[in-house]
Amino acid sequence: MAKKLPSVLLRSGEDRRVRAGHPWAFSNEILMDAETKAIPPGSLAYLRAPSGEALGLVTFNPHSLIAARLLTTNPEATVDALFLGRRIANAAALRDRLIGVPYYRLIHAEADGLPGVIVDRFGDALVVQLNSAGMDALTPVLLEALEAELSPKTIVLKNDSPVRELEGLKREVTVAKGNGEPIELIENGAKFVADLSEGQKTGWFYDQRDNRRFMAGLARDATVLDVYSYSGGFGVLAAKEGAKAVTCIDRSAAALDAAKQAAKLNGVDKVVSFDKAEAFEALEKLGGTHARKFDVVICDPPAFVKSRKDLKTGAQGYRKLVRLAAPLVARGGFLFVASCSHLVDPPVFADQVKRGLRDAERTGRILRSSGAALDHPVHPNLPETAYLKALTLQLD
Ligand code: SAH
Repeated sequence: MAKKLPSVLLRSGEDRRVRAGHPWAFSNEILMDAETKAIPPGSLAYLRAPSGEALGLVTFNPHSLIAARLLTTNPEATVDALFLGRRIANAAALRDRLIGVPYYRLIHAEADGLPGVIVDRFGDALVVQLNSAGMDALTPVLLEALEAELSPKTIVLKNDSPVRELEGLKREVTVAKGNGEPIELIENGAKFVADLSEGQKTGWFYDQRDNRRFMAGLARDATVLDVYSYSGGFGVLAAKEGAKAVTCIDRSAAALDAAKQAAKLNGVDKVVSFDKAEAFEALEKLGGTHARKFDVVICDPPAFVKSRKDLKTGAQGYRKLVRLAAPLVARGGFLFVASCSHLVDPPVFADQVKRGLRDAERTGRILRSSGAALDHPVHPNLPETAYLKALTLQLD
């Protein structure tokens, strides 16, 4: 190895979790002497047990709560484009088997052995999000590895996530290769449009792929309300699969614009209508004196809980959502509610949904409890990173 790497030492007893397979060491578990504190954020380092034994290689940021993120338990490894390329190749092989078309989440951070890295693939375009100082520092190496494995035409570095601030990183979007213009994608056999540079997150939410297919299966000949529709992932697919009429509601004009384009691309623009509105207001209006009923109501809101301090009030947002949405569901119809707040765990979410139903004086049954699609795997030691929860109910 060209340059000797710095070492970070775990405090007494703090090596146990890492030895048990956990990929992180928190700052309070590390001996933060002056030398360690002076290691530049994002450096590669040896992670050492209190005995001095090297447990592996980490990216290190002395200013972050998640100070060390394990890249490999082999301290002899060289972290270069070949190393990253092998992980990318494995992740791509898995997705190709699971999804079949090159439109998927290619890298889902720790679960794919690349902590701090998200890559969504749109055919020959990639959208990359780097959420740790370590991976940000490795940007050129990662780009080289992506190039070697996939030779993409376009690479957008969508580095605008708020978590970057916790790592002392700037929030910015840059196009590393190609033009980063909106692009067509295929999902569940339908065509959609994702704006890779200006869209929300990576431009598309692949995590709902399986839930969209399931809901579309319930929507044949049905009337459908798709609240928080973004670019039509649920609503346009439902229309393509035979829904009678679909209403998409979102407050983002750009998102609805992409949804409109998708409706056209799939030949269902006569079936889908669009309403740019605040969701709660729109739901209240629809539930007014001449309450309209829908056979299927889909609610896939943004994270209501963004930090621990708003856990209680945020979680109640799901109750309110169900209180407002349930009255719009026809008897025997279906309600889908999702939460992507990682701080809200499944029992808390289910409890809020239950309360919302009670508020709306509706009864029913949970048909399906689901999460993110298979291209969003979970590291076994980080069960809390399984952020997406969804319940599908039939209402009486
Ligand atoms: N269901 C979508 C993803 C939803 S993401 C899909 O399948 O792809 C959340 C969406 O909620 C975003 O499109 C965002 O613009 C919208 N949104 C956020 N707050 C909103 C509000 N108060 N009212 C209406 N839409 C909102």
